[in-house]
Amino acid sequence: MPQDKPLVVRDLRKSYDGVEALRGVSFDVEEGEIFGLIGPNGAGKTTTLRIVAGLIRPDSGEVRIYGLSPQTGDVRVKRLISYLPEEAGVYKNLTGLDFLEFIAEVYAEDGGEAQSMVDWARRVSGLGDRLRDPLRTYSKGMKRRLLIAATLMTRPRLAILDEPTSGLDVYHSVVMRGIIKEYVRETGAAVLLSSHNMLEVEYLCDRVAFINRGVIIATGKPGELKEKYGAENLEDAFIKAVEEAGMVGQV
Ligand code: ATP
Repeated sequence: MPQDKPLVVRDLRKSYDGVEALRGVSFDVEEGEIFGLIGPNGAGKTTTLRIVAGLIRPDSGEVRIYGLSPQTGDVRVKRLISYLPEEAGVYKNLTGLDFLEFIAEVYAEDGGEAQSMVDWARRVSGLGDRLRDPLRTYSKGMKRRLLIAATLMTRPRLAILDEPTSGLDVYHSVVMRGIIKEYVRETGAAVLLSSHNMLEVEYLCDRVAFINRGVIIATGKPGELKEKYGAENLEDAFIKAVEEAGMVGQV
């Protein structure tokens, strides 16, 4: 088992063509914790997650995953993480089952492990016989369920999930939240997820960071943040955190 914390993020800064997407983002994620990065459109959530996953480079700042940098192409990091993108093109002519088998073969050490990954993903996707149909026939929500199952079946020690329930109906959102929680309970892994659905995050996350305009304006357990801002729910707490940060009109 690797030493160090699942994730340490320190003072990330990133600009795109002069637009400052991140202006100094820092947070940690502990073992067995579901940590939510939450904020409005354009706040910098996807940029942060893509840097953590090693897909893009920050201009400055540091990321450590169990003490290792995701920026160096270190294969040990790739074995520790799994990334669910916000929008994923899937191979349209593969069936759902082909897709799961393809991913399992990449990650598994042997055929037995690949089979147990696929069996697990078949069950949690809830797609049943539709797994035999080509992906081009799937609805947006069905693709999302397949991708969440594929992301977790590789048993990452740090799962990085960008808006995991985006596009899912209420029923399947509840089911997928349950699967994420069960995964963490069973494996003791850590999850970093992003969302702009604060009510959902309140049920799912052990700790959250409010991000706005590329800066983190508050971090804590949902209950602590509600108490700190005298708010009934996280939405209210977010609004009050924006006011306190002097960022009214800058959301
Ligand atoms: P959403 O909730 O809408 O997905 P987000 O919090 O994930 O938003 P990011 O996608 O990280 O936000 O975007 C942060 C800022 O960086 C925005 O101003 C966005 O326009 C800008 N940005 C992101 N990606 C790029 C890019 N590839 N080129 C130029 N600007 C970008």
